[in-house]
Amino acid sequence: MTLFGIDNLPYGVFSTADGVPRIGVRLGDAVIDLSRLDLHGVFRRPALNPLLALGRPQWTLLRAQIAELAPVLPAIPLTEVRLHLPFDVADYTDFYSSEHHAANVSRILRPANPHLPRAWKHLPIGYHGRSATVVISGTPIARPHGQLNDTDFGPSARLDIEAEVGFVVGVPGSRIATEDFAEHVFGVVLVNDWSARDIQAFEYQPLGPFLAKSFATSISPWVVPLEAFATFPSPPQQPRPQPYLLPAGPALDVSLRVQWNDTEVSVAPYEQMYWTAAQQLAHLTVNGASVRTGDLYASGTVSGPAREQAGSFLELTDNGTVPVKLADGSQRGFLLDGDTVTISATATGARGTTIGLGSVTGTVCP
Ligand code: CA
Repeated sequence: MTLFGIDNLPYGVFSTADGVPRIGVRLGDAVIDLSRLDLHGVFRRPALNPLLALGRPQWTLLRAQIAELAPVLPAIPLTEVRLHLPFDVADYTDFYSSEHHAANVSRILRPANPHLPRAWKHLPIGYHGRSATVVISGTPIARPHGQLNDTDFGPSARLDIEAEVGFVVGVPGSRIATEDFAEHVFGVVLVNDWSARDIQAFEYQPLGPFLAKSFATSISPWVVPLEAFATFPSPPQQPRPQPYLLPAGPALDVSLRVQWNDTEVSVAPYEQMYWTAAQQLAHLTVNGASVRTGDLYASGTVSGPAREQAGSFLELTDNGTVPVKLADGSQRGFLLDGDTVTISATATGARGTTIGLGSVTGTVCP
């Protein structure tokens, strides 16, 4: 059974030997070339942004039309296409919304004061990232250099990953109510928020991550429409959030699998996130800040309670002190040059089937 059936139909940007980027949907192991349709003039484009700007009623209409037409349109095997960054990334925001991840990080990085930050259960903590270095899956990741402590400058020795779920904004807005989430958010990608832990540990107080994360953020090539997902009640929140963060909005049942070279090292449960994507968008815009077409915001590292559910190697290896053994017998604390990390995911689809989100991969180079 395919993870990319008619109930999924994620959008992406591809080119063939002619080198012209255009828009398609994935069906099975093939791409359906939508530039042949040019409905609303949005498919003969090198990026999804014009489609993203159309809004929910048009997204729904187009999806229904494509579901009818896709099976009879020519299919190009995935092996014959090159996939591109699917949309021009406007602003990029990253949250910190897994309680298990936040608790693990507090314990590992601040053992003397291992509590969640004071605001953590009152608002979805986040920071603004760097959209210019959001890259498509497969882009090599150059090991970042920086100040590692009071005296040393050089390549990061603690290069890490963060497995996250990203949300793609279509319709601009400000002060967006949680109930209006689906009017503004088009769909979902996978995110790897590459992180240099040594640079981060030295620079992050009091303003948060800066150069430790801005060197590269990888995303998956397929944007899965929100409509493809089943929605579930989100976990209870105590203390009760402020009114602008209610109702909390739905949870999505997404499982992320992290593969380090040839070894699967963790399976992280997105459905256990404390803050929902609707709450994140409401919080991001509650002060009057605006989002635009092509904005990307990420969930924060997805981690479950068990070590083998960790969405970062910081947690998986307890800051490098408990190495993981890979299939070839070698051991790792953090990433070595030449290592490849692939994050893939599946989710419960709106019709109860399992749908795929594809994968985001990257190889570390010196
Ligand atoms: Ca992150």
